[in-house]
Amino acid sequence: MALTGKTAVITGSNSGIGLGIARSFAAAGLNVVLNSYTDRKEDHALAEELAKAHGVDVRYIKADLAKGDEARNLIEEAGACDILVNNAGIQHVAGIDEFPTAKWDAIIAINLSSAFHTTAAALPMMRKAGWGRVINIASAHGLRASPYKSAYVAAKHGIVGMTKVVALETAQEPITANAICPGYVLTPLVEEQIPDTMKKYDMDRETAIKEVLLDRQPSKEFATTDQLGGTALFLCSDHAAQITGTTISVDGGWTAM
Ligand code: NAD
Repeated sequence: MALTGKTAVITGSNSGIGLGIARSFAAAGLNVVLNSYTDRKEDHALAEELAKAHGVDVRYIKADLAKGDEARNLIEEAGACDILVNNAGIQHVAGIDEFPTAKWDAIIAINLSSAFHTTAAALPMMRKAGWGRVINIASAHGLRASPYKSAYVAAKHGIVGMTKVVALETAQEPITANAICPGYVLTPLVEEQIPDTMKKYDMDRETAIKEVLLDRQPSKEFATTDQLGGTALFLCSDHAAQITGTTISVDGGWTAM
C-alpha cells in the first residue's frame, strides 16, 4: 500500500521525537498534522518548512491533550487520519509520597488518556478508509520501572496494555496497533533532567549522562529521533502488516537486562 498522500496525525510534534517522526513521514510523502498545546508563530512556521521541503501538505493544529474533548477535536479537525501517532508526553520525577496530585493527573491525562480519546476518534476514519496504523510512543518505562517515576511508569505500562486491546479489536481488519518503546533519546524532555541529575550526584554533564542517565542503556548512546522516525515508518509499511499488538524497543539493549 503506497504511503504517498496518506495523512498522519502526530500528537506532541513541535519538538523532539514527534518532530523527528514528522520529518521522516513528510520525507516519505505523507501528509502530516503537527500538534501541541501552543499556538505560536514558530509552530505554524514548522509546518510551512516541512511542507516546502517535501512537497506535502503539513498543518499545525493546536490542541491541549490534557483535555479529552480537545484530543477528540484534533482528529475531527484533521479530517483524515490514516496513521495516528500518540506521542505527546510529559515527565515529573518525585518519590510517590511526595508526588504532587496535579502532576499525577496531568501525566495520566497527557501520556495515557489522550491516546484513548484520539484512538476512539480515529478508528472510524481508518475503518472507512479501509486501512490504518496506530503507533503509540510508549517507553522502556512501559516495560520496566524506575524509582521516582510512578505516574510516568503507570501511564507507559497503561499505553502498552491499551495498544494490545486496540490490536485485538482490529485484528481482522487492515489496521495495526503497536507501541514503540524508546530508551533515552536526547530531546527537551531528557535535557530538562540533566541539571537536576548533575546537582543530585555532584557530577559534570558528561559523567551525569553516561553514568546516571545512560546507566541502564548498555549501548551508552542515546537513540535518535531519526531512528524513531524510521521505526515508525517501518510500522506503516506492508512488511509490518502482520505486526500488531506488540512493542518494539529502540533502547540500546536496556530491556535485554
Ligand atoms: P519533548 O518534550 O521534546 O516532546 C513532547 C511533546 O509533547 C512536545 O511537542 C510537547 O509540546 C507535547 N505536549 C506536552 N504537553 C502537551 C499537551 N498538554 N498537549 C499537547 N501536546 C503536549 O519530549 P520527547 O522526548 O520528544 O517525548 C515524546 C514522547 O516520547 C513522550 O511520550 C515521551 O514519554 C516519550 N519518550 C521519550 C524518551 C526520551 O528519552 N526522550 C524516551 C522514551 C519515551
